[in-house]
Amino acid sequence: MSGTKMEISERKFTFRDKIKNALFPERCPYCTRVIPLGDLCCDDCAEKFNSITYHTYARGGFYTVSAVPYTDIFAEAIKRFKFNNSQQYAYQLARVMADAIVKEYKDEEFDMITFVPLHPVKLRERGYNQSELLATELSRLSGIPVVTALKKTRNNQPQHTQKKASQRESNVKGVYRLTDKRIAEGKRILLIDDIITTGNTLGECGRILVAGGAEKVLCATFAVTVVKTT
Ligand SMILES: [Zn+2]
Repeated sequence: MSGTKMEISERKFTFRDKIKNALFPERCPYCTRVIPLGDLCCDDCAEKFNSITYHTYARGGFYTVSAVPYTDIFAEAIKRFKFNNSQQYAYQLARVMADAIVKEYKDEEFDMITFVPLHPVKLRERGYNQSELLATELSRLSGIPVVTALKKTRNNQPQHTQKKASQRESNVKGVYRLTDKRIAEGKRILLIDDIITTGNTLGECGRILVAGGAEKVLCATFAVTVVKTT
């Protein structure tokens, strides 16, 4: 089976998009200022980007590329995107991720993009899964299909409330399952989350995909942080 390299085709705007934009103008995801349709952010925020691509390893050795550090305007954007019913920023954040992915994984072929799932209860509360939105936009940009390969079967405590490294590790153990036992078989998978901290969540999802027969799992997130663990 031949996969697809991550190559970006730019977004095209319809008349309808333009009308919609006149009524509900696009805003900078990092400071909420109104920006022209199609721009990824305002000029001031654009200056805060650097050309660095961040990489780290999720638990279990899954290589992970991230576009920005979890600091300053980038942390604000993530919080807004995640908790403020601001799913409209998905495209702009995913577009920034896409550049990092193309740069780091230019020689890789993927059969599917998938994402870290939310528990159904959490999904109902929030109304959307921010990681699924990013994965869906990346799929639109690249033509690589997005597949819901994982589900969360236990509504565990948020990872950031787990202070010790050992707690963070055990908190995610066994909470994810494949949606179908053959869904990952032989697949080269790009696994998406909004942020990587200690890498336990992505590592656990990666482990499940590999246990399900995935040929390869590479990860990408919008932001990366390093938290102090004890
Ligand atoms: Zn801005």
